[in-house]
Amino acid sequence: MNQRTAEWIDSRREAFREMLQSWVRTPSVKGEPRPGAPFGGDVRKMLDLAMKDAREMGFAVRDFDGYACDITLGDAEEKIAVLGHLDVVPVGDGWTRDPFGAAEENGRIYGRGSMDDKGPSLAALFAMQAIRETGVPLKKGIRMILGCDEESDWKDMEYYSAHERIPDTGFSPDADFPLINTEKGMLVLELRAPAAETGLKILELSTGDRVNVIPGECLALAEGGEDLVRKTEAFAAKNGWPCTARQTERGVLLRTEGIPGHSAYPEGRRNAIGMMLLLLRELGAEGPVAVLAEHVGTESDGRSLGCACGDEVSGNLTCNLGILRLEKDGWFATLDMRCPVTADQDALKKNAEDRLKGFDVRTETRKPPHHVPADSELVQSLLAAYREETGTEGAPMSTGGGTYAKVLKQGVAFGALFPGEEELAHQADEYADLDQLILSAKIYANALIRLAGEHTGSR
Ligand SMILES: [Zn+2]
Repeated sequence: MNQRTAEWIDSRREAFREMLQSWVRTPSVKGEPRPGAPFGGDVRKMLDLAMKDAREMGFAVRDFDGYACDITLGDAEEKIAVLGHLDVVPVGDGWTRDPFGAAEENGRIYGRGSMDDKGPSLAALFAMQAIRETGVPLKKGIRMILGCDEESDWKDMEYYSAHERIPDTGFSPDADFPLINTEKGMLVLELRAPAAETGLKILELSTGDRVNVIPGECLALAEGGEDLVRKTEAFAAKNGWPCTARQTERGVLLRTEGIPGHSAYPEGRRNAIGMMLLLLRELGAEGPVAVLAEHVGTESDGRSLGCACGDEVSGNLTCNLGILRLEKDGWFATLDMRCPVTADQDALKKNAEDRLKGFDVRTETRKPPHHVPADSELVQSLLAAYREETGTEGAPMSTGGGTYAKVLKQGVAFGALFPGEEELAHQADEYADLDQLILSAKIYANALIRLAGEHTGSR
């Protein structure tokens, strides 16, 4: 049966390429809400295009008022879910190609959303069509839900689940192969403290606007003279870090340069705010700045906060200081912790609170971890499909990031980026490799047959 679906998918390569290009050329960045278009007109256009294509492919398609659509194969009550998304993040800097041109180069389609998540969603849709066209008998239905707000607030899934039951089991083609069965919990803390009365006087500091970004640059203005410049130079030399100080009319302007990235993946990165805190302490800052320097600094594992922990399925906790601002009424900072499955989030908050003397600590976001056991039928079926189509072994993985997989009781992220491939989601020159998406479609067909097919047991 897989042979036939695989051949069918190969025969549709051109149609796949053309459809992917038309999807990528529809710039579905979130915009101002309009009636019937809660995420703006461009996202609505993309949703309409996807629904039209799916209808022409022969599927039953329903619009959930511009929040999401679903595409269904088979009418069995029990369904396997496939959760993708049609919205994309803004273009950002550094593109050397038209971000919505969908140009083909060496078998790659370039463009924002080509890999996150239009290409993988389309691969899964072609897998569903292959199953339909080759007449694979199904004992369960397959329901793809394409959301329109994944990159922002997940209002799409909220709306969908308020109007239709989401199946219990399935996968989201919005991450990596072989598969991710563990997503860490999330704990975002907001810290507030009055500014210090003594020590170095800091006049201005405002860095970061997202809790989940490791800031790459931090600027601060402090009261002082040439001695601050000298001390900064010594500090930079001692640590081997790019830190500078420059006398200006209003004070000494300090700058630290880190290595930016996503809060959940701190390896090889360096937090510019953390560097600034250590520098400010060295220059004589007291109070909240000194407390943050001591208990957070540039650490990304929560060690000095008493929060370092880990377990076998999740790996270690990560912690990111994403925002630090000196406001009218004092300091404001955020900590974004991605917590192992076995971690007690109340205890983590308490530990941080105990050490961050002088700070008022409040929980801003709290999301439980998500884990599907490696020996579950779902994980084993998907791994078997991956193995059969690629001829390579693969083990389940853990992430500090999050996908729609956690919307499902039993859900994992499954593809479509292959091991060792360049991760360009949210970055410049994002592209999708056509050969790899065709292979992904075969893996998805294989997996869906295992999960929903009539002969599941005999294969
Ligand atoms: Zn995505």
